[in-house]
Amino acid sequence: MTNNLSLYYHVPFCVKKCDYCAFYSLPNQDDSVKEEYFNALYRQTEFLKTDRTITSVYFGGGTPPLLKVDRLCKLIDLIKSRFTMSENCEITVEVNPKTVDRNDLLMLKNAGANRISVGVQSSDDRILASIGRIHNFGDAVKCIKDARSVGFDNISADLIFALPDQTVDGFAKSVYDIMSTNVDHISAYSLQIEEGTPIYERRESLNFPDEESEESQYGALCEILTKNGFSHYEISSFARDGFESKHNLNYWARGEYFGFGAGAHSFYMGKRFSTPCDVMRYIQLSGTSLFAPTDFDSALPITETEAEEERIMLGLRTNRGVLLPVHAHENARRIADLGYGIFKDGVLALNSKGFRVSNQVISMVLV
Ligand code: SF4
Repeated sequence: MTNNLSLYYHVPFCVKKCDYCAFYSLPNQDDSVKEEYFNALYRQTEFLKTDRTITSVYFGGGTPPLLKVDRLCKLIDLIKSRFTMSENCEITVEVNPKTVDRNDLLMLKNAGANRISVGVQSSDDRILASIGRIHNFGDAVKCIKDARSVGFDNISADLIFALPDQTVDGFAKSVYDIMSTNVDHISAYSLQIEEGTPIYERRESLNFPDEESEESQYGALCEILTKNGFSHYEISSFARDGFESKHNLNYWARGEYFGFGAGAHSFYMGKRFSTPCDVMRYIQLSGTSLFAPTDFDSALPITETEAEEERIMLGLRTNRGVLLPVHAHENARRIADLGYGIFKDGVLALNSKGFRVSNQVISMVLV
């Protein structure tokens, strides 16, 4: 175990739920609820006693700016004053383009945030409207420009593919459009149709791309970005040189992190645990001590076998690869010989082609 630690803050508030969203987030909350929730996050941060060095902080959601930007700034101030921060500690705030203006971004920059992750999702306004997003592509471009103009030199954008009515060419256009905004990092995920979401209810009437088209969209993403100066450093993530997300790399390297907020996950002191997806309960239970120990005491320690499986599965998500046990070497060599990656000194590192079949690769090396 290293002496490093990442922190995650979950802010489960949104203007309205997007039609595909199965994350824990609540639309339209009163400011009084947000204030109490902020107080809970603040207290919980004070309760965490650690001498570990904080290498990344991530405010995710939901829509973190809806907590109110000055409250996010107060949390950043608190974190910086309470913990030992690494010299280049990455502090990311996720934003929905419609929920921040230039002044908000300036406040975040001045407080010490140094990375902005913008939920762009698509450059096709018709598709954005059809999945219930509250912004259009123009809003996203403005948000990225504003972030750049106040001094953010590390900006990430999220895209979604395999959306209803999305063609390979249509998605490729979104990739080119987002690239033209000069972002430093792009993550792209295929649409998951989760039970209980409006898109799930409407699924029979929607025109989803078939499996072949979905694979071609992912293929187009990999080809366009890798030909244009981005490295495909993780299954879903692409970065210009030096802009890989430290926070995400910590997850894939099985580094530890502590999650604050309702529905936040932690991997801390060798245990994985989470808090309930319930804002009011989180507020209630946050008053007198660190919330996690309730879960923490009952969380089962990860067994050695589980830890080894996690290490291999997570490690194969990145192009840094993972050291494999000797009994998996023969299969790893076959995988590399088929052009899915490189196998050298016991380390198998997948490439874009390999990432596309990572589930099969995992089952071949976890023997
Ligand atoms: S903005 Fe994000 S978290 Fe909020 S509803 Fe949409 S997808 Fe879900």
